[in-house]
Amino acid sequence: MTRRKGRSVLVRLASLRLPVLLVVLAAAALALAIGYGVMSRVTHAQEVRNAREENLAVAGVLAEEAAKTDGFSEISGSAALLLREEHQRAVITLGSVRHVFGAPLPANRQVVAATSKAQDATVVVSSPIDSPASMPLTFVVLGSGVLVVVLGSAVLANAVSNREVRRRAELAVAAADQVAAGDFSARVGSDGPDVLAAFGRAFDAMAARLEEAEKDQRVFLADLAHEIGTPLNAIAGFAMAVVDGTIPPEKARGPIAAQTARVTELLDDLTQLRAIDAGDEEGQSEVDLGSIATELVAAYEPIAAEAGVRLSVRPKRVMVRLAPRLLDTVLRNLISNAIRYTPDGGTVEVGCYQDVARDAVVYVKDSGIGIAVEHQAKVFDRFYRVDEARDRESGGSGLGLAIAKRSAEAIGGHLELDSSPGRGSEFRFVLPRALQEAQRNRTSLDEELPATGSQLAGRN
Ligand code: ADP
Repeated sequence: MTRRKGRSVLVRLASLRLPVLLVVLAAAALALAIGYGVMSRVTHAQEVRNAREENLAVAGVLAEEAAKTDGFSEISGSAALLLREEHQRAVITLGSVRHVFGAPLPANRQVVAATSKAQDATVVVSSPIDSPASMPLTFVVLGSGVLVVVLGSAVLANAVSNREVRRRAELAVAAADQVAAGDFSARVGSDGPDVLAAFGRAFDAMAARLEEAEKDQRVFLADLAHEIGTPLNAIAGFAMAVVDGTIPPEKARGPIAAQTARVTELLDDLTQLRAIDAGDEEGQSEVDLGSIATELVAAYEPIAAEAGVRLSVRPKRVMVRLAPRLLDTVLRNLISNAIRYTPDGGTVEVGCYQDVARDAVVYVKDSGIGIAVEHQAKVFDRFYRVDEARDRESGGSGLGLAIAKRSAEAIGGHLELDSSPGRGSEFRFVLPRALQEAQRNRTSLDEELPATGSQLAGRN
């Protein structure tokens, strides 16, 4: 865990653009070296000046004393007193005689000397000081050491980062191969440097979507096989019975016709679903929702009457721009369901309005059996039925609400449902105001623009 954390810190350090890091470090080291070099030279010059002044003062005193005496022994006491610095020494020349006081000067050191004269006495006092060259050298050695450590760390971090990038890239390639081979459970993960983490997240989201789609497709195919298999088996059973002479043909005609109608309806619904999913071109036009609701209610009146359901309409003039065929699909499915799931003596009402947010709404409200909360989201899934046996018996393909939902979404709207068991349901198709305005603006812009060849052809 800590190793992993340490590595990720190194990787993050390395992702700070190594060349920039190195240039900054090198510039800082250079500035430090130059600063230190200048400072040490200034300090050294001051030290030379101080030593020269001190030596001159000592030389002056000794020269005065030497000028007053004949023998060197008389000034040895003063010399011992004055030559306090380590390795400081005085060379006193009296006429032609020369005498040296103090320690010998060490080799390999810079010497500062000062000369003073008094009558026939000449005194030269010298002392050693540190040479300036030795100070920057220490610094250069130290600085180089630090630089080597920093550079080493940067190179190490870079190597770790490269290894991590390579490892993650290999992981991504393996996962992509897995997905390409049809195994959508492959995941890359989202750790590591930012860009790799973002890639990992995007890849994993894509794989998850593919996995979900594949699962969905498998379930759909299984459901489809079941939906087609059930009526086909029934048809085959009746046909065999007629051939065997077990039942007379007139007894088989009705059930065979009913099961055939069921397969036909299923195939029609599948075709419709495919067309919506494929986004087949649907022409848009300005329509009044109230008029559409009225026309549909008139078309369904005979079916409602046969089921003993009172069907009514409360139209309002609501103008919208949409694909009328898709809206027709939505409403037909909602109205036929409402009649189908409302017992004899019940009511179904269709209407439209603009709500407070000025969204356009068409509703289909029934006093039927209702849908329990736990089923409400699922009824829009393909082949989902609340009561498998009863609802299949009632004759639907199990695709009605899935088709209605997808058609609503293809228009740019959505479906809403309020329902309670035993009291009835209200399905609403909602077309957002923002979408209506966008569509209107687009239309008026199209009308303002000079018509191109194809537009002219389309209008003719
Ligand atoms: P079906 O062809 O079975 O009607 P749908 O997709 O149209 O399939 O509906 C899915 C299920 O939702 C139905 O089987 C039924 O259980 C339930 N359902 C749909 N509309 C209504 C309604 N108006 N009242 C009660 N239940 C409904």
